[in-house]
Amino acid sequence: MKNQPQQVSVTRELGESKAAVNVIATISHEIRTPLHAIMGLAELVKDEIISDTAKRHIEKILVASEALLQTLNTSIDAARVDREGLYIDQSPFDLLPVMENASKMFALNAESKGVSLNLHFDPRLLNSRYLGDPARLLQIISNLLGNAVKFTEAGDISLWVALRRETSRERQIYFAVEDSGIGIPKEYLERITQQYSQVQSAQAGRPKGSGLGLFITKKLIALMGSDLKIESSARGSRFSFTLSLPIDSSQAADPPQLVSGTLVRVISKPSVACELLQTQLKGLGAHVDYSEKLNVEHLRHLPDLTFVDFEVAIDQPELWQSLRVQTPEHKLVLLCSELDTRVPTLQAQYIGWFAPHLPSDLLQYCGSAGLLAGNNSRSHTFEQERVRTRRRKQSMCIFCVDDSPTNLIVLKGALNKLGFSDLQQAVNGVKAVEYVQAGNEIDLIFMDFNMPVMNGAVAAREIRKIHSDIPIIGLTALSDQEIGEHMQEGDFDLVLTKPASAQQIDDAINQVLRNRYSSVTPTEQAQ
Ligand code: ADP
Repeated sequence: MKNQPQQVSVTRELGESKAAVNVIATISHEIRTPLHAIMGLAELVKDEIISDTAKRHIEKILVASEALLQTLNTSIDAARVDREGLYIDQSPFDLLPVMENASKMFALNAESKGVSLNLHFDPRLLNSRYLGDPARLLQIISNLLGNAVKFTEAGDISLWVALRRETSRERQIYFAVEDSGIGIPKEYLERITQQYSQVQSAQAGRPKGSGLGLFITKKLIALMGSDLKIESSARGSRFSFTLSLPIDSSQAADPPQLVSGTLVRVISKPSVACELLQTQLKGLGAHVDYSEKLNVEHLRHLPDLTFVDFEVAIDQPELWQSLRVQTPEHKLVLLCSELDTRVPTLQAQYIGWFAPHLPSDLLQYCGSAGLLAGNNSRSHTFEQERVRTRRRKQSMCIFCVDDSPTNLIVLKGALNKLGFSDLQQAVNGVKAVEYVQAGNEIDLIFMDFNMPVMNGAVAAREIRKIHSDIPIIGLTALSDQEIGEHMQEGDFDLVLTKPASAQQIDDAINQVLRNRYSSVTPTEQAQ
């Protein structure tokens, strides 16, 4: 047990805890800001790079930065939870990228231990959007997956995301992280979610964690209206919960389906990953022809798409070479592992698909092979909305206000990538107000919060006095609590926490425009 001071005055305790919270807030801000630049720039570079290997390395910078961010979030939450509580946001989001990001964060570490990490994503949930807190959901799943990887030495780790029940308004979705690791002794199960609680003896010698992850995870799940269930034995553990998520019907889309009669061949030794691939393909409506090995029949009757595991290609080099030469472009995918040096040299006639094998990649390969039915069958309303949004983007002027030149480059780069070309900038609040006062036409503002001379909230208030109807999105590295302390209701239409991805920036713009114009474009409005 740690030595505790015998008598500490309440005032001093409160003072110290406030000081500690301030230190944590400062550290959080100081880490988040450069992390924002690293992640933003890596995301921009990713699309510029031609080489596949370089792209995968950049992807890993992004994934490692995201993992660092999650660790930071959990530590900060734990330090603040007693004083300020935790917060859950409600914004529209797509479930698949959140689950894929979490899987990508840990797949390589799992693989390096010989453990395969698989995302079992219910195909009925593809293309659907919900209202909830994607950042918190990512934090929860990454805590659970991080532990699964830490405490598993062989076998498989599975992340399950499955539809349980649905109404026209909401869906009950089951989430589970399952591992074949060392398990948690019965006597620890009850208290393992308490702060700083860790299994001692049985897990001696393992990498030390903070003992905070499950504590915060359980609290976050409770805030989302559910409960974390833990089951464990010497054969492994399962952490699960079910969330009721309201459907974001403004962007309703049907789940993707393959063209009727699509035949896909999978050639691989039996494994969880191989079974999962077949389940995913069947979920998309494919007929699946499975073999453990290549044979000459496979060369005579080519299906619409073929997946071959790299171990098969290595074991049967001649048949593999013949298949490669005979199969048309975009119709052959080699399932690869980044850590296995035996992966054959990648050649143009086929696609190299590196683990983790995620649903969005599968959809992309099916799309390139011309196998997706009805142009991914997005609903008519959704298509109309997309056309409107594209037009809106081309005609819009976005004003970016930030004192950090790197952040301005990152933000403008992300906006460029999203299709916005008319971008203006200012480096502090005073300059921003002057720009608006000069009568310049602006459709939307991104405003950093912490700036010298005049901060973002004050600048937003000044700008609203001149133009009450310009949407303003705040961009900040501050925590929710600090945002609440410094800003007034209505300063910003929406606040984004740094680091914000291009996708989050796009979602924020769409949300703000929807709220402001209720699906009338600025051009249409002007007419
Ligand atoms: P940390 O992992 O940082 O120690 P957590 O709160 O996430 O903190 O986990 C607390 C403890 O619960 C871990 O130290 C470990 O003893 C146990 N634990 C959590 N997840 C697993 C798991 N998947 N398998 C075995 N033990 C686990």
